Amino acid sequence: MSIKILDSELNRLLRNVNIDPFSGCWITRRKANVSGLVPYKGTNLPRVIFQLFHNVKLASNVFVIHTCDKPKCINPEHLKCGSHRVNMDDMVNKERMFCKVTPEQREEIKTLYATGNYTLRQLGWRYKVDASAISRIINDKTSGVARLR
Ligand SMILES: [Zn+2]
Repeated sequence: MSIKILDSELNRLLRNVNIDPFSGCWITRRKANVSGLVPYKGTNLPRVIFQLFHNVKLASNVFVIHTCDKPKCINPEHLKCGSHRVNMDDMVNKERMFCKVTPEQREEIKTLYATGNYTLRQLGWRYKVDASAISRIINDKTSGVARLR
């Protein structure tokens, strides 16, 4: 799913929150469903906010996780990506695995792609990122993936 959202819509979402002055959480006033998630555009709101903020499209096996443990929080600073099935210790590693492409890997990706032996999708699999992220790396644009630290 590629995320299309108007600025006005995003502004409305970001204004429709209660800010917790202690935790810094932006708690959306939208209703949560029975699982405690806030449905939005066929997925859930924090996931949409994360993808917009970082300008990435997450693979379906990558989840958006709250560092603050508040499922209704949409503060991008409190959202990380990783896997549900890992504990907090593992999360840092998983996150690295799923989300980060190092400068060295960027060079690798360009070199591998230049060989003509790999498609964008294959490189995406290899580096656990979306093919469109690979495409941005190859075209040397500032990549959303790189911005994920
Ligand atoms: Zn929060």
